Amino acid sequence: MTLAVRRAGLSPGAVFGYALARAAGIMMQDDDSILLLTPGPLTTSAGVRGAMQQDWASRGGDFAALTARVRKRIAQLAGAGRSHVCVPIQGSGTTALEATIATLVPRTGCVLVLINGSYGHRLHAICRRLARPAMTLEWPENTVPVARQVAAFLDAHGEISHVAVVHCETTTGILNPLDKIAAVVAAAGRRLIVDAMSSFGALELDVSGLPCEAAVSSANKCLEGVPGVAFAVMSRKSLAAASGNAPSLTLDLHDQWRAFEKNGQWRFTPPTQVVAALDQALKEHAREGGIAARRARYAKNCRTLVRGMKALGFEPYLPARIQAPIIVTFRQPANRRFRFERFYDLLAERGIVIYPGKLTKADSFRIGCIGAIDSGDIRRALGVIADVLDDMKVKLAGPAP
Ligand SMILES: *Cc1c(COP(=O)(O)O)cnc(C)c1O
Repeated sequence: MTLAVRRAGLSPGAVFGYALARAAGIMMQDDDSILLLTPGPLTTSAGVRGAMQQDWASRGGDFAALTARVRKRIAQLAGAGRSHVCVPIQGSGTTALEATIATLVPRTGCVLVLINGSYGHRLHAICRRLARPAMTLEWPENTVPVARQVAAFLDAHGEISHVAVVHCETTTGILNPLDKIAAVVAAAGRRLIVDAMSSFGALELDVSGLPCEAAVSSANKCLEGVPGVAFAVMSRKSLAAASGNAPSLTLDLHDQWRAFEKNGQWRFTPPTQVVAALDQALKEHAREGGIAARRARYAKNCRTLVRGMKALGFEPYLPARIQAPIIVTFRQPANRRFRFERFYDLLAERGIVIYPGKLTKADSFRIGCIGAIDSGDIRRALGVIADVLDDMKVKLAGPAP
């Protein structure tokens, strides 16, 4: 705790208040007191956190205007022209994925889910739970889906109406070839649903150009908002034809859309402060220079991270060519003194939060490059990682075998 306080540069009085708050179990977040190097929720800016200090009447005109602004800006970021609209929904990213599949895939449809990680498996689980017929094509976690194989599968299975794919598979940080997959899906006359959760706002996406039926993401990843609201940028035409598809009242994005179009209001209580924070996060995204600038900052974070970790003797799981600048998976070192739980705890004590691996095969852990952080923060994290290795008396000779 002393370390966290020192880093935050607080006065002795504030330190005392901070200690009291900590003792009372209240999380206080100072600008650099904690670094969330995870797949989300992420480190946010003081501006985004500050935007939550106000109460809003959810049915008031001001909040309707704010919602309209957020919807419009997100649609623009997705490259939506008149053809697509942004439909936000209360909840986590998975809520929006489930709502999108529930709304767009009719009971008579069939979804082909492309899988190369746990988020692909989750899309399949959603289809099964919604009782939507589904098939899967699976690749190893360190391999991208092959468009040619997707095309052949679609050829052989005329019953498939939709294809679902993850843009950046956050399980490993792999970048899937969205353009190539979209091209074969369109050529086969099927519809594409993209889980763009961990890429939206940082990697270019063009829903009308791809084309795709829906791209889904949430506030608390590359847009750098806080958790509690997610959204789908959806084809207007498909939405209009999707009345009555959803087997759930709250997950019905057709009805949700109609409500927004009718009077600008949310059907059910919106997370007002979370939406206000997203509005601020979108302003900061634009001020930074939009998608290109955000991508460049994350790419620099990623390069700094990979270079520094390699210098410490860690080995990235993926080849650089298919690594997205979002989150990096590292193999666990073979050194017997290296125990991940202890590594994680010692880092967390010093204000650096990383993420355990989720891989089915290789033992690994993950470090995120996204959030309101820059390469200076990554260098600080690398310094702490070096200290923790010293504490653990782990000396890595070089990449593990
Ligand atoms: C984070 C993430 C999700 C799930 O988001 P939740 O907010 O945890 O529900 C889905 N897909 C991908 C690719 C993700 O990175």
